[in-house]
Amino acid sequence: MEDVIIIGGGVVGSLIARELSFYEISVLLLEKEEDIPMGSTKANSAIVHSGYDPLPGTLKAKTNVEGNRLYKDLCEELKVPFKRIGAYVLAFNDELKTLLELKERGKTNGVSEIQILKREEILKREPNINEEVKYALFFPTSGITNPFLLTIHALENAIENGAKVKLREEVIGIEKKDMGYKVITNKSEYYCKYIINCAGINADKIIHLLDPDYPFTITPRKGEYLILDKKAQNFVKSTIFHVPTQKGKGVLVTPTVDGNILLGPTAENIEDREDKSTSHEGLLEVKEKVKKLTPNVPFSLVINIFSGIRASSTYKDFFVQEIPEFKNILHFAGIDSPGLTSAPSLAKMAVEWLKEKENIKRKKNIKNFEKIISFKELTEEEKENLIKEDPKWGHIICRCEHVSEMEVRNAINSPLPARTLEAIKKRTRAGMGRCQGAFCSYHIMKILSEELEIPINMITLRGGKSFLLNGENKVRWKYAKRS
Ligand SMILES: Cc1cc2nc3c(=O)[nH]c(=O)nc-3n(C[C@H](O)[C@H](O)[C@H](O)COP(=O)(O)OP(=O)(O)OC[C@H]3O[C@@H](n4cnc5c(N)ncnc54)[C@H](O)[C@@H]3O)c2cc1C
Repeated sequence: MEDVIIIGGGVVGSLIARELSFYEISVLLLEKEEDIPMGSTKANSAIVHSGYDPLPGTLKAKTNVEGNRLYKDLCEELKVPFKRIGAYVLAFNDELKTLLELKERGKTNGVSEIQILKREEILKREPNINEEVKYALFFPTSGITNPFLLTIHALENAIENGAKVKLREEVIGIEKKDMGYKVITNKSEYYCKYIINCAGINADKIIHLLDPDYPFTITPRKGEYLILDKKAQNFVKSTIFHVPTQKGKGVLVTPTVDGNILLGPTAENIEDREDKSTSHEGLLEVKEKVKKLTPNVPFSLVINIFSGIRASSTYKDFFVQEIPEFKNILHFAGIDSPGLTSAPSLAKMAVEWLKEKENIKRKKNIKNFEKIISFKELTEEEKENLIKEDPKWGHIICRCEHVSEMEVRNAINSPLPARTLEAIKKRTRAGMGRCQGAFCSYHIMKILSEELEIPINMITLRGGKSFLLNGENKVRWKYAKRS
């Protein structure tokens, strides 16, 4: 019998698992996929919003501003990159009135240091912005982070502090019992006193397992992106937004913490929750809209395209509630944007919720997250010393991102072991560079095969049946193996 079962290992579930692992209680996180993060947390703009957009008085507004404040310390604790690069919202022609409204909204929400800038100042700071710009709001507290590392490191730190994680376990049923709840997965059954539903796009399905008629439904909203090579690194220094619309903050241009430039996302309501395809129309829309912000975007430097799915709902705010008929289950549902920013604050809400129910005691010895060695960040002397210890440090597997064999092996042997090509990518950045894995994929597959002691043709891209070697590929890989 567990004290708490968390459903879903996105940024919300993982940060909650970490916060709860600091207390003398048992915590089990169930995740349906082969790795985390796999839902909205895997594909988003990675912006830690300042908080000018959510309507005052909403939970989104409160947790956005509070989450933003918590980010610096959290990222230091979890050894995750975080940069406060600031954000501009641009106004063309008659949009000044909207800017002034946004400024007021931001102030009401508690956003500090908002500046209103005129054309000359904007272009001095960001020469690639469209010369037709009239005014901009500048939000210095806006930042960027790495959502993969934040989620993985949070859950690894939770594991180090006693939380348990079961991957490939999809929750398919929940039954009320005298002592609490029985949680049924595709593989097993678990008992617990409390449940925290962080199932992202499926959070409404979890609610409907309890009450099929409960009036809360998620509408999947897709966002498509293009990403530019690091050669475009200095194209903009801050995040550049249009003025927001009903559908969200719109298409943006932003640097990433790793030195790429991200363009997107679109906002299209879709039927299929798993549809992560990209489309000609969607990508064209991104191109047109970013050209309005920054006309000279070097589109020749696009290295990848992808999409993410927002868990939007008609509720118009985050749905963080305990439904009266099903006590002791807290739902974090409809966590669309700014969910990444709000997640640290939402995690604290989960702890407060539990504290109101139980006298939970904080552990005396909480383990800190230890820094993971990134070879490319070391000095030449440090590199040499490590190579003397083990030559695998000197064997560079990913040339674009300068990732060594030892880093790949460390990722496979970490508290939350990487078992797929994508899992290695998220932890080390191998395969995220200019060649997008053309050089390193085979080498990583070989290492995965050795470490996991499984044949190479069983290695998958992201679990399930996403095998990398099949059909004609076999011939190609056999050849690559010989050469
Ligand atoms: C295109 C886009 C852009 C965005 N940009 C930003 C941004 O710049 N800044 C910002 O603050 N926010 C942004 N967001 C929002 C942010 O990404 C999300 O709010 C946040 O990632 C939600 O995290 P989560 O943990 O609630 O959900 P998820 O990350 O979706 O995690 C849910 C997890 O639950 C698992 N799961 C689902 N069903 C089950 C089940 N039955 N059993 C077990 N496990 C299950 C899933 O596999 C998944 O791993 C954006 C979102 C999108 C899609």
